Amino acid sequence: MAPDALRIHDDRLHEDIEKVLVPSAAIAARVRALAIAIGEDYSHADGRLTVVPVMTGSLLFAADLVRALPQRRMRIQLTTVSSYGGTHTATRGSAIVGALPKHLEGHHILIVDDILDSGGTLRLLRSEFIARGAADVRACVLLRKRIPSALSTPCEYVGFDIDDEFVVGYGLDYDDLYRNLPYVGTLRKDALSR
Ligand code: 5GP
Ligand code: MG
Repeated sequence: MAPDALRIHDDRLHEDIEKVLVPSAAIAARVRALAIAIGEDYSHADGRLTVVPVMTGSLLFAADLVRALPQRRMRIQLTTVSSYGGTHTATRGSAIVGALPKHLEGHHILIVDDILDSGGTLRLLRSEFIARGAADVRACVLLRKRIPSALSTPCEYVGFDIDDEFVVGYGLDYDDLYRNLPYVGTLRKDALSR
């Protein structure tokens, strides 16, 4: 990130935020810790690791995570799963949009997603990748909601457990806005109804 002196001071986006749940420094520290754990667990997988960031929510998280991982040969293949559309804040079903990652046979797959909520996204991707011959599939999420559906969904790496609130920032959106916030927070009621 550019030094503050080089940034244009304009905080309009922050005015819509009710409270900051996970500050950017806490995210950065947690990303480093996750990368150390993941790097150790995959030390045998040089050249056979495929990281699959789930778009668009994990854009920032995945970009930071892969740069913090040990510098080994790995593939990065994006996938898109739609679990809710536009301005709806409640998660519905999950469906893969567009092409699935290719050449998964014998590869160790690490799914990277923004938030674990109903668990539909991870269950869907895991079964697809296993059906396509992956050697094994693990998942890493930045956030997990403290609700039964999320806590009961297998997930090997979790950044933060949070309360069951609708959050935005660091990749997470409301109607495709707020993804560029460097932290995770909740929206003010008037921003939600806009
Ligand atoms: P799951 O399949 O686990 O229900 O859904 C995960 C997806 O739902 C996330 O990748 C995200 O796109 C969306 N989602 C779930 N909870 C939230 C939330 O609190 N805020 C935002 N912005 N998206 C959420
Ligand atoms: Mg998502």
